[in-house]
Amino acid sequence: MAEAAAATVPADHVMAVYNRAPLAFERGEGARLYGTDGEVYLDCVAGIATTALGHANPRLVEAVTRQAGKLWHVSNIFRIPEQEQLAAKLTEASFADVVFFTNSGTEAVECALKTARKYHSVNGEPERIDVIGFEGSFHGRTYASVNAAGNPGYTDGFGPRLPGYVQLAFGDHDALKEAVAAPTTAAVILEPVQGEGGARAVPDVCLRGLRALCDKHGVLLIYDEVQSGMGRTGKLFAHEWAGEAAPDIMAVAKALGGGFPVGACLATAEAAKGMTVGAHGSTFGGNPLAMAVGLEAFSIISDEATLAHVRDLSGYFTQQLEGLKQRWPDVIVDIRGRGLLLGVKLHSNNREFMALARDQKLLVAGGGDNCVRLLPSLLMTVEEASEAVRKFDAACAVASERLKAAA
Ligand code: PLP
Repeated sequence: MAEAAAATVPADHVMAVYNRAPLAFERGEGARLYGTDGEVYLDCVAGIATTALGHANPRLVEAVTRQAGKLWHVSNIFRIPEQEQLAAKLTEASFADVVFFTNSGTEAVECALKTARKYHSVNGEPERIDVIGFEGSFHGRTYASVNAAGNPGYTDGFGPRLPGYVQLAFGDHDALKEAVAAPTTAAVILEPVQGEGGARAVPDVCLRGLRALCDKHGVLLIYDEVQSGMGRTGKLFAHEWAGEAAPDIMAVAKALGGGFPVGACLATAEAAKGMTVGAHGSTFGGNPLAMAVGLEAFSIISDEATLAHVRDLSGYFTQQLEGLKQRWPDVIVDIRGRGLLLGVKLHSNNREFMALARDQKLLVAGGGDNCVRLLPSLLMTVEEASEAVRKFDAACAVASERLKAAA
């Protein structure tokens, strides 16, 4: 008989599922976070692409405060005018006709997956249940999301894999063609720019090819733009860079609420035709408080001036990081990503590098493939970006010394 694992009670009584940095903050302002250690940190994590308009953005603070004094929650058994307004804005600005609001990214993905299977069911093809996902992808932590992404680190130990999820290698076009043509295939799900996987952008030509392939076989295309969407790449949604490659269904969250928990599943009327009364629902999703913040965040992010700033800042960061790559070829392997979803693939261990960056009072996020990610506020100034680059440079210098010492 296998030996039972011993239980330990974490000192903080919080379930020990996170690998946390030894840091806490008491307040934030724009791109700065003020630590309980008395230090000020330059934030290139932004809650992992979530506080996309900076900390304590005055317009968002005003929106949430105003709504907090009026009405927080009523239930989706009533009409919610703020929800209808945000749905109108999102659909006007995208391929979609309808929106379902959630509280998180993984719930938006859950809704996307259910919408896809239901579509085929009401079309008289209930056998179409297979969802094709890609290695290195991340779609959140519900059972369906971890099965769609297929990362064994997130599925092992949780019982049998759910049926109907197929994983393909990133970039294996032949396998993809074969899988999409299978009569049991319902949908393909992918992130136009992989986030957790290490800021890997799918080439535009591949997105267009995938769109055409899905059309040919009556398969639905789902984009997970939870991380890449809402201005992060310098367009409202990352797939817009590819032109004729709009999805049928799309999951959005993170920046949608500027740090307030809001997610959304967007779909064409055709793709959502199975989602009729009773097919899905949520207690909190789309409540007036979340929608008030979402509306304000949307109006800032969808402003062409904000998107142009993201593109400019991305150009600056990319150029500067390429310079650091030349300077520290022993530390930096590659610069990747799109817009302000930037990845730096390292020779040094990425977790150790994050600690070196923290020593410089710079916060960066980790990512797959030994990357660190820079996901700053979309409103970060060029001066702040230049400070971030200087701090990154200083962290590289220490990493280089360490690598030399270890050699
Ligand atoms: N999809 C992608 C692409 C993500 O990056 C994430 C979170 O990092 C999720 C889904 C899950 O979002 P949430 O943690 O809000 O459930």
